[in-house]
Formats: sequence, structure tokens, C-alpha cells
Amino acid sequence: MYRLVDTHAHLEEVGDLEQALAEARAAGVIAVIAVGSNRESNQKVLALARAHKGLVYPALGLHPWNLGGADIERELEFIEAHIHEAVAVGEIGLDYDKRVRALADKDLQMRVLERLLGIARKHGKPVSVHSRYAWRDAFSLVDRSQVERAAFHWYTGTSGVLRDIIERGYFISANPAVEYHDEHRRAVREAPLERLLLETDSPVVYGRGTDFEYQSRPAHVLRVLAAVAGLKGMDEARIAEATTNNAANLFGL
Ligand SMILES: [Zn+2]
Repeated sequence: MYRLVDTHAHLEEVGDLEQALAEARAAGVIAVIAVGSNRESNQKVLALARAHKGLVYPALGLHPWNLGGADIERELEFIEAHIHEAVAVGEIGLDYDKRVRALADKDLQMRVLERLLGIARKHGKPVSVHSRYAWRDAFSLVDRSQVERAAFHWYTGTSGVLRDIIERGYFISANPAVEYHDEHRRAVREAPLERLLLETDSPVVYGRGTDFEYQSRPAHVLRVLAAVAGLKGMDEARIAEATTNNAANLFGL
């Protein structure tokens, strides 16, 4: 059995969580990074980590989808007040999809991200970054913030930004979309093993509208492993070992 880390999951949204974590353990998952999305979610993530010490590790964040109408100062205060309990700051980032920009424009998203990166830098924490359609700006802000450890999760951006991510020593993570999503497959193919992580982004539904549609749980990181191995033409064992070492180093597990 491989030892695997699910480096990005929304555990507080996963149904029948005890069962899901038992399945994950049985599948060889030795750690799950539970990312938070706002104050309420961050509180749940902290409680889950306390209840599942040694398996669930909390990250505290403010998702770009949650900026509209949020009390930003209160959100940031909560994160900083509990930062010593967390292994990372996340999920944070930018999302330039027009439905997201309608709720929080680019300027607001960037200002909030800078603040969150400032917290990560001040406390020496890595970050888990969402960068949909905003890959260049997200990379530039993280780079300029002097945060030294970062994962660009479910990366689907350009090869140019990917090269900069890799040169800077940051990571991208592969998730179940690696089975079928062209841009994600290209990025995972181009990223060297030393800069790659595995994740599920549970409970995201993958393969929507296809005959293999399913709702993800952390145990599905095994499915990601198999797909990455196929894509890169490498042994599963080698990918499991490298990505787990990467995750342990990145998050200080
Ligand atoms: Zn996520």
C-alpha cells in the first residue's frame, strides 16, 4: 500500500466524514490538508483537525468566492488569531471567472490576497492557492509577497506561468480532473515530480454529465495517483513517494 497525502480537501463539506476518513486510511492516506474557505469553515476545519489528530491538518483561509459581502477584517483577524494551530494559509487566491468578479472585483480580490499572503509570510506558513483564470496575477502576488512555500492547487494555467512556479520552487497539485481535463493534464505532464502534489478538492463532483460522474472523497487520491502515473509513464510507487515527500516538506508534516 502506498502512503499518500491529500493536500487539498474541503472536509467540512464531505458527507459521512467518519466513514470517508476510514476509507482514506484504508487506501493509504496518511494525511489530509483540510482547507478553510471562510470564518465558519475555518472553525469547522480546526475542530476536525483536533478530532482527527495525526490524520487531518488544518489550513485557514478565505476563498475568493466568499469575498462578496464578507467582513474582511473579521475574517483576517480570525485567521491570524488561530494561525499557530494551522499548517498553512488556504484556501486563498484569485478567480477571474466573471461570475466571481461580479461579487468581488479584481482589485478587491488582489488586495485581500496580499493581506492573506502577508499573514502567511509573517508566520512562516505555506499557502494553498486558487488561481482560476488569474494564473499570472496569482503567481506574481505570491512571488512578490516573499512567501517561500506555495501550492497552486488544481493548476490549469499557461505553460509560461507554470515554468515560473517551478523555477521559484513552488508546487502544483494534480486532482481527479487529471483523468480528462486537457489543460490540467498538460500542466501535470509538464511539472517535474519534484514540484508535484496530489489532492482531491473533495467533495467536488468530477466528470459531470459523463458516465463516470462521481463525488470525490479523500480516498480518491488513489485514483489521481493512477492517472498521474499513466500520464507521466512512471511507476505509481515512484510518484507516491515523491509527492508524499513533497507534501511533508511543504506543510511541515
Ligand atoms: Zn478547493
